[in-house]
Amino acid sequence: MNIEHNKHLLAYNTFGIDTIAEEFVQINLESELMELLHYANKNQTALHIIGGGSNILFVHDIKGLVLLNQLKGMQIVYEDKDIVHVKCMSGEVWHECVLWSVAKNYGGIENLSLIPGTIGAAPIQNIGAYGVELKDVFVELEAIHLRTLEKKIFTHQECAFAYRDSIFKTKEKGNYFILSVTMALSKQPICKTTYGTIQQEMNEMKVDAVSIKSVSDAVIRIRRSKLPNPAEIGNAGSFFKNPEITLVQFEQLKNTYEDLPSYDTVNGKKIPAAWLIEMCGWKGYRENDFGVHHKQALVLVNYQHAKGSDILLLSEKIISSVQEKFSIQLEREVNIW
Ligand code: FAD
Ligand code: NAP
Repeated sequence: MNIEHNKHLLAYNTFGIDTIAEEFVQINLESELMELLHYANKNQTALHIIGGGSNILFVHDIKGLVLLNQLKGMQIVYEDKDIVHVKCMSGEVWHECVLWSVAKNYGGIENLSLIPGTIGAAPIQNIGAYGVELKDVFVELEAIHLRTLEKKIFTHQECAFAYRDSIFKTKEKGNYFILSVTMALSKQPICKTTYGTIQQEMNEMKVDAVSIKSVSDAVIRIRRSKLPNPAEIGNAGSFFKNPEITLVQFEQLKNTYEDLPSYDTVNGKKIPAAWLIEMCGWKGYRENDFGVHHKQALVLVNYQHAKGSDILLLSEKIISSVQEKFSIQLEREVNIW
């Protein structure tokens, strides 16, 4: 186990913020993880887990120990004529697992193609895109409590998945290291093509027969055309969640904003946060090295040398202006460290 001191984290976050971790260690094996947890407990060191660093904004230097998860491995643990259960170690790259499932023609996660990050972070915010969420394929996960070192299997119900949310963002926030995630993939896949512009993209691709592969390809093409590539412009995807409002509030707003876009939810209406932010005039906004992406107002960007605190301040200004104009409180999706 090689603990590095005063480690620059520039290479470990997609926002491209150069912060410094007091201590840093890369974990390749479960035995190394156990050794490290014993060390951290003995020294009462604060622990911070990083996977792909694609959902984090660093706003100051990190006290304690940053643990970079590189636990690798994938295994089919159950199979019948309709379904396979695949258990993926948490340091596996999410999109590589998607590509594996597409190559095998196992359906379920193709709409989640090209989401950056690791398997272990996927349950944290119940990753979602194009009408599919992790919870739709989730079977169980194995986690280890950071202080008691007890291992626990979390069932679907125990994870309390919700829109970009789970128990790991609420009651158990910061308490567990997720070791592995098991997903159920279908051998008789039903493609979901109605969300967003998937069907339109497949028409442009001249797809004759819809397949897992064509859906994945379409999603990849759409994402590449709409979203800034973190390798070129620092970002963490959507900075805010799409807010949900009541039907009463929706009707009131609709009187003033006839073209207010919305989607039905169980309790009311989901409003695209990007539309609200754009209506407040932020789309394409730039100040020094940070701003709001010109194609996607939900994505805050670091053009090169922005500070995390600048981006956080910008997000506060956006929240205030949306609150003032629409009386809707935006909530951040990105984890602030
Ligand atoms: P990190 O950013 O490293 O960590 C995120 C949080 O999870 C942190 O609190 C961290 O401590 C915790 N964590 C990470 N691994 C573990 C573990 N093994 N055990 C316990 N805690 C852990 N998200 C979506 O939902 N849908 C999208 O379509 C989407 N598109 C994106 C597009 C772009 C261009 C970018 C940059 C981001 C996008 N995201 C999207 C956000 C992000 O990719 C996901 O949230 C992803 O799951 C984060 O994975 P990560 O490994 O990078 O997590
Ligand atoms: P989009 O297609 O322009 O749609 C704008 C918003 O409307 C989306 O946020 C989506 O909500 C909602 N929406 C669209 N069609 C819908 C439908 N049929 N039913 C319900 N809601 C619908 O969105 P986009 O920005 O290009 O993103 C496409 C997908 O990728 C979305 O699912 C988005 O969540 C996901 N994405 C997520 C991140 C992230 O960091 N979290 C980054 C990029 C893209 P939902 O967001 O609830 O799906």
